[in-house]
Order: sequence, then C-alpha cells, then structure tokens
Amino acid sequence: MPASSPERHHLFYPLIVGSNVIKNRAVMGSMHTGLEHESLEKLKAFYVERAQQEVGMIITGGTAPNAGGCAMGGAWVLSNQAELEKHQQLTNAVHEAAADIKFCLQLLHAGAMVPSPDCVAPSAIKSPVGFFTPRALSSEEIEAEIQSFAHSAQLAQLAGYDGVEIIGSAGYLISTFLLASTNQREDNYGGSYENRMRFAVEVIRRVRQAVGADFIVIFRIGAMELHDQGCSWQEVVQLALAIEAAGASLLSTHFTWHQSRVPTLTSNVPRALFSQVAGRLRQHINIPLIVSNRINTPQQAETILASGEGDLISMARPMLADPAIIAKAKSQREDEINTCIACNQACLDHAFEMKKVSCLVNPRACRETEWQLVPAAQTKRIAVVGSGPAGLAFAVTAAQRGHQVSLFEASTEIGGQFNIAKTIPGKQEFSETLRYYSRQLQLGEVNLHLKQRVSAESLIADHFDEIVLATGITPRKLNIDGIDHPSVINYLDVFSGAKPVGQRVAIIGAGGIGFDMAEWLAHVDEPLTPATQIFARDWGIDFLNHPRGGVAGITPRVAPSPREIFILQRKPGRVGRGLGKTSGWAKRLYLERKGVTMMAGVEYKKIDDQGLHLSIDGAGTILALDNIVICAGQESNQTLFSQLQQAGTTSHLIGGASKASELDAKLAIEQGTQLALSL
Ligand code: FAD
Ligand code: NAP
Ligand code: SF4
Repeated sequence: MPASSPERHHLFYPLIVGSNVIKNRAVMGSMHTGLEHESLEKLKAFYVERAQQEVGMIITGGTAPNAGGCAMGGAWVLSNQAELEKHQQLTNAVHEAAADIKFCLQLLHAGAMVPSPDCVAPSAIKSPVGFFTPRALSSEEIEAEIQSFAHSAQLAQLAGYDGVEIIGSAGYLISTFLLASTNQREDNYGGSYENRMRFAVEVIRRVRQAVGADFIVIFRIGAMELHDQGCSWQEVVQLALAIEAAGASLLSTHFTWHQSRVPTLTSNVPRALFSQVAGRLRQHINIPLIVSNRINTPQQAETILASGEGDLISMARPMLADPAIIAKAKSQREDEINTCIACNQACLDHAFEMKKVSCLVNPRACRETEWQLVPAAQTKRIAVVGSGPAGLAFAVTAAQRGHQVSLFEASTEIGGQFNIAKTIPGKQEFSETLRYYSRQLQLGEVNLHLKQRVSAESLIADHFDEIVLATGITPRKLNIDGIDHPSVINYLDVFSGAKPVGQRVAIIGAGGIGFDMAEWLAHVDEPLTPATQIFARDWGIDFLNHPRGGVAGITPRVAPSPREIFILQRKPGRVGRGLGKTSGWAKRLYLERKGVTMMAGVEYKKIDDQGLHLSIDGAGTILALDNIVICAGQESNQTLFSQLQQAGTTSHLIGGASKASELDAKLAIEQGTQLALSL
C-alpha cells in the first residue's frame, strides 16, 4: 500500500479527559439526520458505520431534555424510562462497533426556536427566525428546566453514553439567557451579565452533580455569535471560566446565531476561518477545547492542533461525506477521502426543509441499510459514456462492486460541468470531488478513455453487457426575437473564456448558474490578500478586537463589481428563490452589496442594437447592454441514446442526460450510485 500522505501525529495522539481516554483528536460533531423519527435501525447503522472508522468521539444529533425543548417535530427527547430504552439500543450498537469510542448525547433545548405556540424563553421576545413569541419562564419553571437538563444527563449516563454535550449557543434556550437583547428579566437570571450567565452555569453545575466526576460534560459556547447583540470578548471568556469552574470537562466552540447575516458553513467560507478565535479562548482556560467550522481535511485538523488553537477537532459534514475520513488519514490514504465540499445541498438544506439528511458527494449517507455496497452477483462489462458527476459516481460504484468498467469521455479531463463549477469564486472545494473520483477510478481499475467521443456503432460493436449514458446537457437556446444578436452569449462560452464580456451585462435566468455567473462577472481578483482577511472585510468581522458578536459596529465592505450587472427572472417575487435554503440568502446579500441589480417578473420582448427590450408588470423598458448572457437552464443530450434505441440496443440514461430540468449534481450522483448498486 503506497503511503500517500504524511502521518498526522497530533491528530492521532490520545487525549485524557478526567478518567476518560479519547483515542484521537477527531470528533464527529452533532448532526440531526432525520433518521431519529424514521427508524432506530437506520440510525444505528448510520452511527455504527462511522464508529467503526477510527473517529475518537461521536456526538449525537440534538436531543431535548424535555418534550417542550424539541427543535423540530420528531426530535428525540430523553426524559423518562421509555425514551431511555431506545437510547440504550443505540449506545449498545455503537459500543459494540467500537468499544474504545466516546459516544456523547447532545442535549438541546431549542427555547424560542421550538416550533410550537407553547415555546419558552427567558423573556417573551420572538426570534426573527422563530415561529412563535415565546412565553417568559417563571422562576419555578427555570428551576424545572435546570432540573430536566440534570435528569436527562443522568438518564444519558444510564443509557450508556460516555458523556453529554450541552448546547449553550446559537439562539437556543441557554444562549438566550446570556444576551441582554433576549433576556430582559429583572430577577436573579437577568440584568447583569453575571445574572444572565447564571442559567448556563447552573445547568452545568447541576449536570455535574447528577452524573459524578467521570462522565464527560461538554459545553458548546458561542465564541462569536456574528450578530451585533452578541457577547463581547470579555463576556465570552468570563462565561468560559465560569463553565469550567462549574464542572465542564470540555468546551466546544460555536460560531453562529440563527439570525446572523454572516455565512459560516458555506463553501465561500475559508477553511478553519474561526480557529483563530478558538485559539485565543484556549489561552484563558484549563480544560480542553473543541474547534469547529469548515474543517474538512485531516491536514487542516493537524495544522490547528499543531498550532495550539485547539485540543479536539469537530468535523460533522465531513463524516457524512466520508464515514472513513479518519481511518483513511490513519492509514495514510488521504487522497482516497471523499471531501465535504460545503455545498449544504443534501445536509443542512434538507434538515431545514424537514427532509432526511444525506450528502451530495455520498448519497449513501443515511441510507446505510438500504444502499449496501456488496459485490455484484455477476461481473459485467459495462460502458459508461460521460464522466460528469453522474458517470463518475456510476463508474466508481460499479467498479467497487467488481464490474469491469470502461469510461468514455469526449473532453481532455474527467468532471463534466464540475470543471466549470470549481472555477466559480468560493467553489474551489468542488475540485476535491474530482480528485476523489480520479483516485477511485485508479483504485477500481476503470478503463478511462479521455478525448473519446464514442458513437453508437462503436458501443454496439464492443458488445458490452450494459451501456450507461451520462452524456449531460446542452444549454437551452431561447426563443426571443433577436436571440442571434452578437451581444448574446451562452454561459459555457463565458466560463470557458471563448467570448469576452463587456461592462454592462444582463443575465437571463436566476437559477444556480445565473447566480454563479453574476459572482464570476462581479469578482475582483485580490491574490495578495489572505482569503480570511477578504472574508472578514466582506462580511464585517473584526477577529482581533472582537466587538459584540465579532461584528458590532463594523460595516461590510466588498470590492464593487467591475461590471454593471443585472440578474433577470420571469417569475415574480424574490429573485433566486430556488437557491439553497442555507446558502441562497448569502449569495443574494453578497451580490447586492457588490451592486448587482436583481429584477423579477420580467417579460423578454426582443434583443437588438439598442439592447434588451423587456417589460415588468406591463411597463416596457430597454436595458442598453454590451452583453446578454443566457443562463436559462438546459436540455438533455440524448442523441446517443436515440441512436442506440434505433439500433435496437438498450441503454441506461442518468444525470442531465436523463432529465435536464431540476437536475443538479446531488441528483446526478444519486442516480449514478443507485443504478450502479442495482446492476
Ligand atoms: P455533465 O456534468 O454535463 O457531464 C457530461 C459529460 O459527458 C461531459 O464531460 C461531456 O464531455 C461528456 N460527453 C457528452 N457526450 C459524450 C460522448 N458522446 N462521448 C463521450 N463523452 C461525452 N450542481 C450542484 O448540484 N451544485 C452546484 O453548486 C453546482 N454548481 C454549478 C456551477 C456551474 C457553473 C455549472 C455549469 C454547473 C453547476 N452545477 C451544480 C450543475 C452540475 O454540475 C450538473 O448538474 C452536473 O454536472 C450534471 O452531471 P452529469 O454527469 O449529468 O453531466
Ligand atoms: P435552473 O436552476 O433551472 O435555472 C434556470 C433559470 O432560467 C431559472 O431562473 C428560470 O427562471 C430561467 N428560465 C428557464 N427557462 C427559461 C426560458 N425559456 N426563458 C427565460 N428564462 C428561462 O438551472 P441552472 O441555473 O441552469 O442550473 C442547472 C442546475 O445546476 C440546477 O439544478 C441548479 O440547481 C444546479 N446548480 C446549483 C447551484 C448551487 O449553488 N446549488 C449552482 C449552479 C447550478 P424564470 O423562468 O423565472 O425566468
Ligand atoms: Fe458536505 Fe455538501 Fe455533503 Fe453536506 S451535502 S456533507 S455540505 S458535501
């Protein structure tokens, strides 16, 4: 086995926490999967598959300490014997899979974020992203809430967990006690910061009392809430010290508050952006610190540990993308890791849409019991045409099952449209997926034929057992009067650099590609400034002085677009409504700050030397433009499929070639994988 990556000395060094030994520094952070309310067997399989792959600690998705604290319908609760039994089954399964793992339960009381009219909070103040105005807790109810955290932690111990993580950040119950903007109480739990901290500190003190000295108690602290009512640095440190004194074993840093207008998890966020904040906090405390957010490679984890910015590294989404990320790092096979590209499309977007979570680059995530990777009953010779995400996912999975796969690609490189996506500012992570597939093609001994546009005749002549067509799409040509005017360009010609783009540009189509086009055209290259500094400037963060929430009083300053850009859509309402739930708002906000104009309800009339003639709500106008870029969706490439059909040969269609509308990489990879598992 070739040693393809260095040993990660810091990552694989054990950590002693009280009487517990955590075998390495890798933590799988808490994620709600949606399996909690679907099936215990599926949830077990999800955790077991990850526990078997060397991770040191796993923290479960949020479980409420009482029924009134559930962040969403169907979320787990741990407040009585009946609930304890299913937790016991889960801990047994995980510890059977890996006796030396530390498996911790996250306790989350969602407070004002509970989607129920009965939700509670320190004061009756509605969260801007909550559903209802909460009821202010009485003093007796506060005592009962503290008691339920302690009781739940005790039940977690009985259920066989090794510890609990208590979430004291992000806008959930505990954190709303901390901020003056959400806590306007006049009793012992409100007023001074010391009083506002009391609930958090009391929860930890009582939990520690309930579980004894050996149980791991983690507190998730909002190290930077990224909104202007957040804590000052002095308050963050004061809380950290008080939580340590109250008996926490570990502190875990968190960087968000639900209404924050700073993205923290999307692909445009530089890797490990917030580890510097964790590093500063670590200097003040004596218990170990967990660092999180946009840490998606073992190398990044190693760098943080080596620099002393943290003691443990939390990676949540990277373990959806590749359950074996830590095992691969341990055996120096990092080039085989399927890296999380921070797209949020199948994980956070699904969670916020109340759908089951999965992963764009690993659709087996949360389908472990249904999509089993087993050797094929009969080895087949299979031709795959097209090496975009659909063709790659099929080829790699089929080869892993033992099939003999030949992959034909017309271009000089694998990847299809992902080769364009990876050039969009902020989407460089997409190249990791192509690195992963490239390595898997080698490992699976797939016969890769680049620069080979195959014909139906050659496929038929080769007598393959199965033919899979993943030939992708062609951009949709629009039927607007004047569409052949020289100012009109399609998006492929822009991204490839085949056609230059002028100063005043309209983009027809406000889907994912329309927005990526705007980002591309509005981008200003600043190669001499570190990405972290650019991000801090663009989003108004002061990492060094840490005003309230890290952002109070700072105006974001983006480099203005070098072009005047208009994004147009026919649908009325918000432009780009179809963008991802957890990333679309940030794309829109960023482009607005760059000065991009967004127009909805547009009817395209004609294009001529004067520009683009259009009407909005019946009022006609002409946009004088240098160029009009068409980003109006695609049509499937099915020529080869029809030719094979005419010749009486059956084939399978996947990806954009099967159905271009609403086809994205998530669906393309899912289709490719699913078909490969079925043959
Ligand atoms: P393609 O990626 O189109 O690949 C088809 C391949 O087939 C090509 O490589 C082509 O050369 C080859 N081919 C065609 N005919 C033949 C032949 N006869 N012989 C040999 N080879 C042939 N999706 C997301 O989900 N998230 C994103 O953030 C995202 N961003 C994007 C950004 C941009 C700028 C673009 C352009 C697309 C983006 N997409 C995104 C869309 C995503 O890339 C596509 O949905 C996905 O690539 C479709 O995969 P596919 O395999 O079906 O087809
Ligand atoms: P898309 O998301 O379907 O958007 C196409 C846009 O073109 C729509 O805004 C549509 O809006 C407009 N349109 C469609 N037909 C038109 C017509 N006949 N005339 C004028 N306008 C028309 O497709 P895409 O932007 O090409 O993206 C392709 C796929 O890649 C999508 O699945 C997308 O989700 C995915 N992708 C995702 C991301 C991401 O960041 N998640 C990024 C890029 C691409 P109106 O009809 O309202 O005008
Ligand atoms: Fe990462 Fe995207 Fe997968 Fe989520 S869906 S785990 S962000 S690659």
